[in-house]
Amino acid sequence: MARITLDHIRHAYGPNPQADTDYALREVHHEWKDGGAYALLGPSGCGKTTLLNIISGLLQPSHGRILFDGKDVTDLSTQARNIAQVFQFPVVYDTMSVYDNLAFPLRNRGVAEADVDRRVKEMLEIIDLSDRAKRKAQGLTADQKQKISLGRGLVRNDVNAILFDEPLTVIDPHMKWVLRSQLKRLHKQLGFTMVYVTHDQTEALTFADKVVVMYEGQIVQIGTPAELFEKPRHTFVGYFIGSPGMNVMPVSLDGARAVVGSQDIALAEAPKSVAGDRLQLGIRPEFIRIGREGMPVRIDRVEDIGRRKIVRADFEGRPIAIVASEDVEIPAEPKIAFDPAGVHIYVNSWLAGSP
Ligand code: ATP
Repeated sequence: MARITLDHIRHAYGPNPQADTDYALREVHHEWKDGGAYALLGPSGCGKTTLLNIISGLLQPSHGRILFDGKDVTDLSTQARNIAQVFQFPVVYDTMSVYDNLAFPLRNRGVAEADVDRRVKEMLEIIDLSDRAKRKAQGLTADQKQKISLGRGLVRNDVNAILFDEPLTVIDPHMKWVLRSQLKRLHKQLGFTMVYVTHDQTEALTFADKVVVMYEGQIVQIGTPAELFEKPRHTFVGYFIGSPGMNVMPVSLDGARAVVGSQDIALAEAPKSVAGDRLQLGIRPEFIRIGREGMPVRIDRVEDIGRRKIVRADFEGRPIAIVASEDVEIPAEPKIAFDPAGVHIYVNSWLAGSP
């Protein structure tokens, strides 16, 4: 398995790119460690697949280099890069048996038949298809076929990395959960470098060591799920990660106090800013207390989600989400208080489109 270096990667699909917005990837410069599980997460069109294809060699970047363990592979073909890929839709040979589908990548590399047999049988156990080994892939369900694709990606143990492009999209929700946990376990057990594209935050947060959040062709933050939750570096990351995401509102500062509309809120420390900066306050719904004390809000609706409720309200003329436990009573004249530990002040958080 390999450490992957993305060295000043830029990519434009069209000719003569001029502005930043002409680039599908603007500037990606990072190193992903050997054996890491990285999830590329971001909204549709942010460049996840473009980056994955550049790593795999399906696409040549307009600028920059890709290195595996320090060796420049930018000009190497996908095959020469020695990576395994699992795509959104199953890639299986319908006329071959399930066993032969799994054996194919090994036989192709000249692995001795006794080893092929051992590894294929292990993989059949892992993907829970041992009882279908002799069946033709044709006629299996989409779930089962995608399990074969996963198995084919994982059966080789000599690859530099395994790349996944939304591989669970076609899988039904229960099986998705099962496969996700299997993949996590396998990663722990086998220690392969894995890059996993998804736009589903649950998928990214449950199994990645590091989540790479992308927005408009850039990596905006790389962090553990806890870091992204507790210390989102941009308003977009706060808003995109979490359910509901972080509340973001314009704010002005008065020393160590933040002023939102007619309310002011004590801050743990005064952020540095100069006149003309665009200031925003971010607070996750879990850090807002609702009760009889604090700043007035008008309740729009309450969504019951099992042991918690999401209160949607109007605060100083803008929507705000509050997460409360199910036993919290909402008084007739509700007020909210911000936990200072959960207040973030953003100075020129530069992501257009974030609230
Ligand atoms: P999704 O989640 O929808 O797959 P993504 O994050 O993977 O999105 P990409 O597919 O990498 O995003 O696309 C990034 C940008 O590049 C988008 O603006 C897209 O329209 C553009 N793009 C992607 N492929 C091509 C192509 N072959 N030719 C021209 N533009 C492309």
